[in-house]
Amino acid sequence: MQLVLATSNLHKILELKAILKDRLEGVELFSLKDFPNYVAPEENGKTFLENAEIKAMHAAATLKMYALADDSGLVVPALNGEPGIFSRRYASDKATDKENRDKLVAKLKLLSEEARMGYYECALSFASPEKILKTALGVCEGTLILEARGGSGFGYDPLFLKHDYNRTMAELGEDIKNRISHRRKAFDKLLPIFEAQRSLLTSS
Ligand code: IMP
Repeated sequence: MQLVLATSNLHKILELKAILKDRLEGVELFSLKDFPNYVAPEENGKTFLENAEIKAMHAAATLKMYALADDSGLVVPALNGEPGIFSRRYASDKATDKENRDKLVAKLKLLSEEARMGYYECALSFASPEKILKTALGVCEGTLILEARGGSGFGYDPLFLKHDYNRTMAELGEDIKNRISHRRKAFDKLLPIFEAQRSLLTSS
């Protein structure tokens, strides 16, 4: 089975590879970094789910292989859901993670401490070249803090505190993050379909 991780975000590639690691027998794994001429589709969906499906279907149909696409972001209900589907380009189209975090902190400062709750949401979509096979959502809840802590992960992780550990996602390290993350939870829901497809293709 040939599978492309339909992203060129290195952090997502590494996390997805870690999450998939025991499921790769018989799988030839690629990412969009292996296809430098690939032209990504416009992400014009209104939800994580819609955008994940756009990315998965486009990659699978264009590259003629199975595709797994992630669309994800941070949702802060007290900020009317911001940054939401605009998480990657919150401060501007080409914003760095730090610029996005700075914009978020400026807005969080105007909220009470109790209102600084948020969650990561991840939609993962699994497609064959013909159709979407399954799309699933995973959520991971936390509290946002005003000063960045920790050096692992990416995006909003240094601001995202997990109470049960009293550490930010960026302090927890990859192993723990990949066990509890929104991405892991979404993948767990896809797993039965993914495994069924993998065994079908590796046994034939
Ligand atoms: P996408 O590439 O359009 O799906 O946008 C993903 C953006 O959401 C990233 O650039 C981050 O800003 C944010 N994000 C998604 N997942 C995570 C995560 O696991 N940690 C931190 N930020 C994340």
